[in-house]
Amino acid sequence: MSTPDRTPTAASTVDAVVVGAGFAGLYALHRLRSQGLSVRVIEAGSDVGGTWYWNRYPGARCDIESVFYSYSFDADLAREWEWSERYAAQPEILAYLQHVADRFDLRRDITLDTRVVSAHLDEGADRWTVTTDAGERISATYLVLAVGLLSSTNLPQIEGREDFDGRTFHTGAWPHDPVDFTGRRVGVIGTGSSGIQLIPLVAEQAEHLTVFQRTPNFSLPAKNGVPDPEKVARLRTDHARVKEEVRTSSYGILLEPPTQSALEVPEEEREEKYRRRWEEGTLTGILQAYNDLVRNEESNHTAAEFVRRKIAEMVHDPQVAEDLMPRGYAYGTKRPCLDTGYYATFNREDVTLVNLRRTPIERITRTGVVVDGVEHPLDDLVYATGYDAMTGPLLAIDIRGRDGRTLREAWADGPHSYLGIAVSGFPNMFTLTGPGSPSALSNAVVSIEQHVEWLADLLAHARERGARAIEADDRAEKEWTEHVQLAGNATLYPRTDSWYMGANVPGKPRVFLPYIGGVGNYRAHCDRIARAGYPGLLIR
Ligand code: NAP
Repeated sequence: MSTPDRTPTAASTVDAVVVGAGFAGLYALHRLRSQGLSVRVIEAGSDVGGTWYWNRYPGARCDIESVFYSYSFDADLAREWEWSERYAAQPEILAYLQHVADRFDLRRDITLDTRVVSAHLDEGADRWTVTTDAGERISATYLVLAVGLLSSTNLPQIEGREDFDGRTFHTGAWPHDPVDFTGRRVGVIGTGSSGIQLIPLVAEQAEHLTVFQRTPNFSLPAKNGVPDPEKVARLRTDHARVKEEVRTSSYGILLEPPTQSALEVPEEEREEKYRRRWEEGTLTGILQAYNDLVRNEESNHTAAEFVRRKIAEMVHDPQVAEDLMPRGYAYGTKRPCLDTGYYATFNREDVTLVNLRRTPIERITRTGVVVDGVEHPLDDLVYATGYDAMTGPLLAIDIRGRDGRTLREAWADGPHSYLGIAVSGFPNMFTLTGPGSPSALSNAVVSIEQHVEWLADLLAHARERGARAIEADDRAEKEWTEHVQLAGNATLYPRTDSWYMGANVPGKPRVFLPYIGGVGNYRAHCDRIARAGYPGLLIR
């Protein structure tokens, strides 16, 4: 592990700079290095792990089964590592990524505690000059952005936010030392995946918990426990086939694709299916029960009603239950959640739900949060308010491509990309699981592996031909960007205010950020392009 040198130096030279050492950056380093490229990874955190380094809030765990939320590129790694839970908690996922870094001797090329501040294209040379906050300049042929989808934290613009005298936290930048809420009056703003995971655990500790909820979410019980022994056994004995099934699936998980519309089947049969899927405890179980739930409002309504009835069963106070029920948007169009005891938490005497749908937060004071003229006194305030998703972490870096044009300028009306990985005007720059790829609508690890492997093959192809630059063709980029929006517009997603649409960040262009064509279809499309010699990319 190298420590950053804080004095300015002459630019060092490598084949590739990878920004970020999470799931994507680690695999990119391993893969590109094994192809003979010299690689430097620059990571802002003090260790590898990305999302799983920063998100240390109580209850943080994955919501895709861990046996699938792991790398599949190395069968031995998959066989060796034993997950202790079906949905592993953050410390175990971080330990896994640390193990991967050590097992594949990755650390020697990773610089920690260092943030990339800019990346400027040297047009004449088709190289990138990458500058870090340590004052180091690195000259690289390729700029590989592995910055994560959800890594730029979003703080709401609420009057008086800076005035609060108590402790404040954001779930995405949680302290390393355990936070003790014993005897404290805690407020949580936000009820997305992070808030829903955190709230039950804070409730157990705090003297009183006040949850400030603007939009209720649909959440299913995780039914966590030990990993499914059948799936573990299959992975051990039949790794190649399971890997193939996962990679060609719609979401990067093993799930029989639905063949029927929710409206095609009798009500009792549909209810029974939803009931079974609820008991299975998976993120997309209900959403994938029928093939039209994200496309047809009437079909979607059947699933939404089922979850609302479940909430009514679990929450004793009918008004609190009503306040927790999502209404006015289709099930699944905000990312659904998996929880452990979330709804039952609101049966506790020491938990208050404040419904911001009726009245928004007026202001934050030194001592609490004011809603509808009433101050809720607090010692601690937790922001579970999410991220400037997908584009935020990319635009946080001063990236300048051809003619000095910034990525921010190029994406002023929303991200444009070819396949979500290459951008016209920014040769030799690649966005791993970038906007316009399935990324956020998939098991991210599966999408990461696909992007890294496709990119590695592309670089090998270009280098074999002695090409210096790879760039998205403007026309191919336009067509792909339109296709991503058309695919999104054929669903119910764009009707909902969500981070998928950039709607959670004031002023952000409203476009559908991920590609909804499905992991398997997208992979097949990318593979066809590779086989055809990469039309859509200018390789020169
Ligand atoms: P999020 O889904 O964007 O949720 C943010 C929450 O903060 C929402 O409830 C939002 O309400 C609320 N909020 C924002 N500004 C507010 C304001 N001014 N006043 C009141 N409430 C406000 O963020 P997240 O929960 O961190 O999750 C983001 C994504 O990260 C997830 O969708 C998921 O993809 C990923 N994640 C995954 C896991 C996992 O289990 N693997 C865990 C955590 C996160 P509105 O809905 O009204 O905007």
